Amino acid sequence: MSARPLLALLDALPATDGAGVELLRAIGQPALMELDPFLLLDAFRSDQPEDYIAGFPDHPHRGFETVTYLLEGRMRHRDSAGHEGVIEPGGLQWMSAGSGVVHSEMPEQRNGLLQGFQLWINLPARHKMDPPAYQEFSAEQIPQERRPGTVIRVIAGKTRNGTRGPIEQTLTDPLYFDVELEPGIRFEESLPAGHNAFLFGIDGSLELPAEQEPLTRDRLAVLGSEGDFHARAGDTGARFLLVAGKPLGEPVVRGGPFVMNTQEEIHQAFEDYRSGRMGRMATVA
Ligand code: MN
Repeated sequence: MSARPLLALLDALPATDGAGVELLRAIGQPALMELDPFLLLDAFRSDQPEDYIAGFPDHPHRGFETVTYLLEGRMRHRDSAGHEGVIEPGGLQWMSAGSGVVHSEMPEQRNGLLQGFQLWINLPARHKMDPPAYQEFSAEQIPQERRPGTVIRVIAGKTRNGTRGPIEQTLTDPLYFDVELEPGIRFEESLPAGHNAFLFGIDGSLELPAEQEPLTRDRLAVLGSEGDFHARAGDTGARFLLVAGKPLGEPVVRGGPFVMNTQEEIHQAFEDYRSGRMGRMATVA
């Protein structure tokens, strides 16, 4: 099968979100507002507490999923339904906000390195008002597939050798791999036909077919939706996210933390949030 073409290679842009967290936005920026079904990809990596300590205090979501994958540091999550937990290094939280949650995401550390990603994945219209749901996995629960010079952490989807990630999500059938390659190692993977796909550089450099410029840290590569994925690590090796999902092809209307199909549904979301119908955070004594 032919290789997936590279459609675009772009830098993540500095952004501030939450109560003042400094991050890099790769999807959800002017050059790439969305890559159906992906609505946003933020990367954060800092050992300066002032960049992250303010965290993401109480805020709502409706209509999509938030996927938080931590490489370093710890984040505490609390929501209005009483759900609470800490994401540890290498751990993952896959939250389907559905009809709505109010939650907080705060660093569980006062210093040291905090590094990770948050990806927003859209939900189809008929599932936007489903009850909220969580899937959470520690580093030990995420399967690692090893090939020569290669480690693949399989969070969602299935590799061509059959390693399957723990995430169950049939609506957009996502694939989410964290791939590490030693210098010069070639990597080939099958991706579901018709899925939109992207790469995000974590470390090193990755040479892409028919491309002069390699994928490097904090850059995003948008791939075509057909064909296999081929790449080769540069002389310092490569680490990157490889993510794919089935496009929904539905209208996307954003209103801050809500993503729906119509402006009326956005108004309703704000109204439901204001009136407490998405829940309220318990007061911490
Ligand atoms: Mn959130």
